[in-house]
Amino acid sequence: MEIIQTPQEMQQLSSRWKCEGHSIGFVPTMGALHAGHLALGRRAREENSRFVASLFVNPLQFGVNEDLSKYPRPFEEDCQMLRDAGCDALFAPSAETMYGISTHEASLHVPHTYVEVAMLGEVWEGVVRPGHLRGVATVVAKLFNIVLPQRAYFGEKDFQQLRVIEQMVQDLNFPITIVPVETVREADGLALSSRNAYLSAEERAAAQVLSRALCEGVARARAGESDAAQLGVHMQQILDAKPQIYVQYLTVVDANTLDSLAHLDGRPARILIAARVGQTRLIDNMPL
Ligand code: AMP
Repeated sequence: MEIIQTPQEMQQLSSRWKCEGHSIGFVPTMGALHAGHLALGRRAREENSRFVASLFVNPLQFGVNEDLSKYPRPFEEDCQMLRDAGCDALFAPSAETMYGISTHEASLHVPHTYVEVAMLGEVWEGVVRPGHLRGVATVVAKLFNIVLPQRAYFGEKDFQQLRVIEQMVQDLNFPITIVPVETVREADGLALSSRNAYLSAEERAAAQVLSRALCEGVARARAGESDAAQLGVHMQQILDAKPQIYVQYLTVVDANTLDSLAHLDGRPARILIAARVGQTRLIDNMPL
């Protein structure tokens, strides 16, 4: 596996591979890799002749009081996991080479150009974490121009992020297919996340109710409940059993527009949840 640190070198390698007729499958990550990331990698490996991953803790998508400086960065372990997954190249730039400015300046959100996806980027995470999805869309647009993939793989775990990227690709005519990958979960249902490492044993046990509440919503919808408020009441009861959980939003949305739905009416829908578990913020979702 080649490890590449500058956009110029990555573009050169990708351009050469494209001239040679290779297809490039791309998995962008912030590292601290787990089986969820590897599920994306497996698809990229299977569906393309070249598999490129990126590892970049993007300052632009962290708010001022968020966990940028303490975000886990086990670089050597990540490299080994990617080698074992058959990755051909890892793009691991510094904030300086990505934005042409210092990490500190990048954390103050001062690049020259942003990508902002209206509507889809303004609700839910867009409200709780102002600037976050703009930071994500901006860095992913840059990464697409650097890695030049045919296909890029994103987890349904971050469902709003996935929709924002799909919309950006459509609106800006990136010649890239976005491939959604199902959420990988622990045995008890907790969605894998690099941030789960922050949880104490007690918080980890409590965090399980997030997926249990979502499963309850899905089961009740399958059993015929179509009133979103009623689904919410039953899910909230499960969450209320754990005082460590503070729910930021719990909502049933149209899976395309992310608009709240009062009633399930047959169109694709999704339940989204964001909650603090102690000091750690977790998000999850399930399809209805
Ligand atoms: P991150 O490193 O958190 O930026 O995530 C990189 C990619 O991995 C994103 O597309 C995430 O949606 C995806 N991802 C993270 N956790 C999971 C999971 N549990 N299952 C599937 N994909 C995931």
